[in-house]
Amino acid sequence: MTVVVATPSNYVGRLAPSPTGYLHLGHARTFWLAAERARLAGGRLLMRIDDLDFDRSKPVFTEAALEDLAWLGLKWETPVITQSERVDYYRSVLAKLHAAGLIFPCEHSRRDVREAAGAPHEDDDEPIYPRAFRPPADAPLPPLSNVITTNWRFRVPDGETLTFADGHAGVQSAVAGTDFGDFLVWRKDNLPSYQLACVADDIAMGITEVVRGADLIRSTFRQLLLFRALGRTAPAFWHCDLLRDEQGRRLAKRHDSLSLRAMRDQGVTVADILSKFAATS
Ligand code: GLU
Repeated sequence: MTVVVATPSNYVGRLAPSPTGYLHLGHARTFWLAAERARLAGGRLLMRIDDLDFDRSKPVFTEAALEDLAWLGLKWETPVITQSERVDYYRSVLAKLHAAGLIFPCEHSRRDVREAAGAPHEDDDEPIYPRAFRPPADAPLPPLSNVITTNWRFRVPDGETLTFADGHAGVQSAVAGTDFGDFLVWRKDNLPSYQLACVADDIAMGITEVVRGADLIRSTFRQLLLFRALGRTAPAFWHCDLLRDEQGRRLAKRHDSLSLRAMRDQGVTVADILSKFAATS
């Protein structure tokens, strides 16, 4: 008799909704793909709520996201990890970057940076930080104050080409200092940037593969630098294509009619949605 013993998989994936609105079909498809990758690998799937944008995040959207994803049949492990409860941990990660001299304080406003940087990259959140604003590498680093009221940025290794093999999008490369610049790690409202919090959590959660939308590919290069700075191996990445509307625009939270709840209210079934996802993946 042959006994088949399941080999335990070391795959750990995560779903990371930002609770700044109701989930739409595009988010749902990304999360479904992430859940499918974890399921097919026989791995674990964790849930993280990216609620560090205090102005736009609302508990009602967190509840709605969990409810909508459960309605869709997705299953994840508990407890749910909530970024707003983990600021002390992120601060300890910032202290490591500071001790290694890899970051610098930046007094320039977002507007100064945007104006000096010229045209922003399409689809990107951060303009390239102007070299003229950057303090010399040997300038003494001020200590981190208890309550941080200045932006802190990561000094990128100018001219270094970073490359990773994306599981879905193929080989990706970007040049530090040209394709993206010194990026925010801590904000003057005393909260971590998305890049720092995301990497800190992907390390703490033991994530082996990050599945998310292709709009975050440029962020991945920044995150690779953070993993390296923290002495960690980066996870694998799988960036999926974004759903577009009939005009070719990326689906956004403004497409209210395509929110999962609106669709459910209109009588669209889970089977309808999943068959659409299966057809576009
Ligand atoms: N919370 C982010 C979003 O909803 C995803 C971040 C990530 O997967 O790294 O766009």
